Amino acid sequence: MELEFSTLINDVKEMLVDNAEFLHSLESIDFIKDEVKQLNDEANKNRLEYGERLCRIKSNQARLDETLKEAKAASKTVDELKNFVKDALKEKRNKRQSVKNTKEFKEFRKRLADKNEETVAEIMSNVTDIIAVHDPWSKEVMLDPVVNTKCGHHYSKHSVEPLIKDNMGICCPILGCPNKAYIKPADLKPDPAMAAKIQAQLAQQEEAVISDQDDDLT
Ligand SMILES: [Zn+2]
Repeated sequence: MELEFSTLINDVKEMLVDNAEFLHSLESIDFIKDEVKQLNDEANKNRLEYGERLCRIKSNQARLDETLKEAKAASKTVDELKNFVKDALKEKRNKRQSVKNTKEFKEFRKRLADKNEETVAEIMSNVTDIIAVHDPWSKEVMLDPVVNTKCGHHYSKHSVEPLIKDNMGICCPILGCPNKAYIKPADLKPDPAMAAKIQAQLAQQEEAVISDQDDDLT
C-alpha cells in the first residue's frame, strides 16, 4: 500500500515532466513558436507548484506511516495510541523542513529545467528523417517534386506549373513560410534528390505498416 501510493505520486510527477517535454517540442514549429513558448513558461510555474505539492503529500504520508509504526510499538491501549500519534505529528509538523529543500523536489526541478533547455536542434534530430511527401495543393504524393529556390519548399511540378502559368499572384502555400513573393517559373528547379527521399520514406512507411500488421497477428 505504501509502495503503491508513492508510485502513484511518482507517476504524476513523471507526467508533468513528459508534458513539459511535449510542449517544449512544439516550440520547434515556427509559426506557433512564440505562443507555445509563452504557454510553456506559464505552465512551468504550475508544474513546479504541483511538483512541490506532490512531494509534500508524499512526505506527509511517509511521516504518517512512520508515526503509526512508532505508536503501535509504544502503546498498549487505543487511547495511548491516539495520544501518541497526536503528539508525534504535532512535534514533527513543527520541525518539518520546506519541501523545496528536499532532494526529491530538487531532482524534479532539475529534470523539468533540463527538458526545457533541450535545443530545437536536439528535438528536431528526432524528426529530421520525416519529410513532407505531399503536394500542398493536390495533397497527393509528390512524384515530380520541384523546389522553390526562394524558400526551399517543395511542390509537385504538375500541380504548381498550371497554377502559376495563368496566375501571377500565387505565393508559397506552406504554412509559416517567410517567403511572401509570388512564385515565378524561374524560381522552380527540379529536385531529383527530394524525389528519391520521398520514395525512400514511402518505402519505410510501408514497411512499418507491414510490421505493425505482423504484430497484430501475434
Ligand atoms: Zn515556402
